[in-house]
Amino acid sequence: MTEDYSKGAAWIKGEIVPVSKAAIGVTDWGLTHSDIAYDVVPVWQGAFFRLPDYIARFLESVESCRMSIEQSPDQIQLKLHDMVAKSGLRDAYVAMVASRGTPIIPGSRDPRDCANHFYAWCVPYIHVIKPKIAEAGARIWISSKIRRIPHDSVNPRAKNYHWGDFTQGLFEARDRNFDTVILEDHHGNVTEGPGFNVFALKNGTIVTPLEGVLHGVTRRTVLEMAREQGLETLEGKLSVEELFEADEVFLSSSGGGVIPVSRICDRHFSNDAAGPVAMKLRKTYFKLLEDPCYRNEIDYGTFN
Ligand SMILES: *Cc1c(COP(=O)(O)O)cnc(C)c1O
Repeated sequence: MTEDYSKGAAWIKGEIVPVSKAAIGVTDWGLTHSDIAYDVVPVWQGAFFRLPDYIARFLESVESCRMSIEQSPDQIQLKLHDMVAKSGLRDAYVAMVASRGTPIIPGSRDPRDCANHFYAWCVPYIHVIKPKIAEAGARIWISSKIRRIPHDSVNPRAKNYHWGDFTQGLFEARDRNFDTVILEDHHGNVTEGPGFNVFALKNGTIVTPLEGVLHGVTRRTVLEMAREQGLETLEGKLSVEELFEADEVFLSSSGGGVIPVSRICDRHFSNDAAGPVAMKLRKTYFKLLEDPCYRNEIDYGTFN
């Protein structure tokens, strides 16, 4: 019987299987404690984008969580290539995951006793905000109740599964008909949202938070593109007031690149439309996805 990989594939326990067949155990701390470090790299038109950067960040996250998965960057790269090739997906959301695992001594509460393990999975490309909405400008809710988990409680620089704050924020946003949410910290500064970084443009300078956020690879790409286009960039504190007073606001994510924002709560930007600077960066991002300098082509021939 031939397996159906149209919905995606997973590399788990040494084999590649359809994504619907991949599972981890119910006693895995990855599940019981959200104890996971992960990363997500986009595949666009048959190639990975900035793959070495994503793998390097993944291994930093794994190390900062004190996990050991015994995978070199080359070994991870090979597994991801084989998995995506087998799936046949040309545009994909590709996750690499390190889970704490299950204690080798049953019932142990000592994290050092856990058998850490690596797996990966891919599904068709995901836009965190649908392209149609992104191009009209996304509508953002800022929660006045739910704050981002403090950075000295859960390290946001290591991409992780502690999404309790984001999920509550998303409920608030969706209940009010906003597309997504941005969370502030306990001092009134902007942090990030569920899977994206935040930028404000004011008088030709692009500002994005430095502390308390994941340093997105797309965030880095945005800063590089902006400098290339002659804009000033600044990584530092960004207060919620400054966000409201910005000329333009936009988001960045591997799931959809640059996403212009038309509204934050009751504040409208660019006459309730996507701003021109954000739209230009969005177009440049999608062009960069096709730039051979950043691409790691997938050889689908091995499997198909
Ligand atoms: C993944 C993620 C981002 C965006 O990072 P990219 O590397 O650009 O995809 C931002 N914030 C959080 C919390 C994330 O999980």
